[in-house]
Parts: sequence; structure tokens; C-alpha cells
Amino acid sequence: MQNKESINFNSIFSKIYCELEKTDDPGEVASYIPELKNVDPDKFGIHLITLDGRHFSFGNSDEKFSIQSIAKVLALVLAYKLEDEKLWERVGVEPSGTPFNSLVQLEYDKGIPRNPLINAGALVLSDILVSHFDDPKNQFIEFVRKVSGIPEIDYSSRIADSEKSTGFTNAALVNLMKSFGNIRNEVDVVLDFYFNLCSIEMTCAELSKTFLFLADYGVCPFNNEKIISTSKSKRINAIMQLCGFYDEAGEFSFKVGLPGKSGVGGGIIAIHPNRYSIAVWSPRLNKKGNSIRGMKFLELFTTETEASIF
Ligand code: GLN
Repeated sequence: MQNKESINFNSIFSKIYCELEKTDDPGEVASYIPELKNVDPDKFGIHLITLDGRHFSFGNSDEKFSIQSIAKVLALVLAYKLEDEKLWERVGVEPSGTPFNSLVQLEYDKGIPRNPLINAGALVLSDILVSHFDDPKNQFIEFVRKVSGIPEIDYSSRIADSEKSTGFTNAALVNLMKSFGNIRNEVDVVLDFYFNLCSIEMTCAELSKTFLFLADYGVCPFNNEKIISTSKSKRINAIMQLCGFYDEAGEFSFKVGLPGKSGVGGGIIAIHPNRYSIAVWSPRLNKKGNSIRGMKFLELFTTETEASIF
């Protein structure tokens, strides 16, 4: 293994990109959210930030994209802060082995989602945040701005409205959970919060900065603000490791070896605790809704740098 402080990540990025370019990317952009169809499928960006403040970027790393399910982790951080261990009475911590929007398991499990990162789980987190706040959408985005240190981070009403127009499966999930008593607020209010949560836009540079506190045991290294306890930070990384890629979480863990989270906008965030956070964006997705080149890039990256959590 190379001395970790001397690695030139930029040259590794270019080398891997050349490798990726040699093969076709057969994936397609998400089309079930109409607005996501309008994204150029061949965008590709990377941004890595180390805990000692070094930045490395490649390609379209300064272009905003819809972070989609990656935002579920931020909802988890805030809900866990507010609820402490009571949170786990309403949502589990087990990998689901089912697609992100699956209804099947939820009936067997009597309305308790397997984990907070599948849609059902994030809808419960949304319900919890709606219960805690007078002005949930504003208070949540203020939290994201604080964690990221970037006051311009915002929702996209265009993306949220687009998802709302076709979000029937999410409506089914929330209704099913309400029938089991695991949703306390009005279904439409919870869905509105959830669609906005998923509509947040960031660049790779912003995304990697936002998630850096999870590489630093809950502290934002750029301002020393403690966002969450060391123990909670560990647990959130563990949930990403086990559940961040739905029914492909084993594959991501096997090939990449870092906790991570994907979104159907084609983004992936991955954390190397005590070292760095890295964001990758490539909109073409596989059948499981995960970015094909994003996953492949991270596989080659941890192989090339000989550094993962294992
Ligand atoms: N907003 C998307 C949905 O609910 C999020 C899915 C994802 O990014 N995997 O379907």
C-alpha cells in the first residue's frame, strides 16, 4: 500500500476514466420521474475531499444534479438526532434484499420498514421530521445547509413536482404504513416532504463536502461543528454499508468496500472513515437503480488505491 498522504488522486481519476471509456455503458437514466429524463446521460463527475482539506476533482464535478435517495441519509441523521434509540421502534436496521420501492416485505413486517434507506424507511423518517418541526421543509433544508456549510443548497420544485405527478408507488407505501399505524401525519404532507427531500440538488463538490462529517466521526472538519455523536456516526455508516444500494448492497460492499449511498439521479457518495468522502455522478443506471459507471469507478478506485475499510 502506498503512503496514504502522498497519493495523487487526480492521476488515478484520469487513469480510471480512460479505463471506463473503453467499454460501453449500457445503462439508462431514470425515466419514472419525468424530469430526470432530461439529464445528459453521459455526464461524469468526481470530487474527493480529505479530512485535512485537500480537494481532488474530475469532469463535471461542478454541475448540479438531483441527489435523490442520497438525501435519505441526511434525513436519517436528523431523525436519529431527534429520536435517539426510539427511532428503531419504527424502522429496522437490516438489509432488505428487495428493490428500493418494494411493497412486498412491508406487509409481512406489519408496516415497519426493514431499514431507513429504502423508500418505506425514508417515508417514516419524513413522517418523524414532519412531526418534530413547525415548518419541516425549511427546517430540514437549514439543517442540510449547516452540515454542508453551503447556504445555497436547495430543493428543486421542478423535480419534486415531477415526482409527485408519478409517485404512485410511494403513495401506496405510505398508505400501507398508515394502515399499520406507522405514519402519524397526513399522507399528502408526508409525501410532499419526501418528494422535496429527494429533489435536493448538489454538485459532486458540494455532496462530498456535505458528507465529510461521516468520515470524521460526526464532526464537520471545516468548522469543527459536532453534527452527531461518534456512536451515531458509526451506526449511520454501518447502515449505509448494509443498505445503501438496496438489493445490490452486497455487490457494492464486495467490490468497493466502503459505506456508500446511491440515488436514481446517478449520484453516489462513499465514505472512507478517518480519510475522505468521495462523490461520483454518472446518470446511466442499472436495473437496480444504481449508477453503473459510478459503481465501477469506485470499484477500480479502491482497488487502485488499495484502501477500503476492510
Ligand atoms: N425519489 C426516488 C423515489 O422515491 C428516490 C429513489 C432512489 O433514488 N433510489 O423513487
